[in-house]
Amino acid sequence: MLEEPQCPLCGRPLGTVNIDRHHLVPKTFKGREQFPIHKICHRKIHSVFTERELLREFHTWEKLRENEEIRRFIEWVAKKPAGFYTSTATSNNKKR
Ligand SMILES: [Zn+2]
Ligand SMILES: [Zn+2]
Repeated sequence: MLEEPQCPLCGRPLGTVNIDRHHLVPKTFKGREQFPIHKICHRKIHSVFTERELLREFHTWEKLRENEEIRRFIEWVAKKPAGFYTSTATSNNKKR
């Protein structure tokens, strides 16, 4: 049986819909490697970190997952179906 591809951020199966690709190292620098990732997880990464932060510090999945904000997101998204996507979920809801 074929191993199901998993999302490198949240660890859930990737599924077949709402899949993006993320460059751990931005392509403007030497980054070539692209990783398939849930669209919702991808949006989350880019809503939490700036390109500069991604480049300087958060260029490994381990680093990304150590971040408090990402950890909470992973816990939250763990209960959602693989293809789940909503544009509101990725915005920062600390406003209230
Ligand atoms: Zn994911
Ligand atoms: Zn990206």
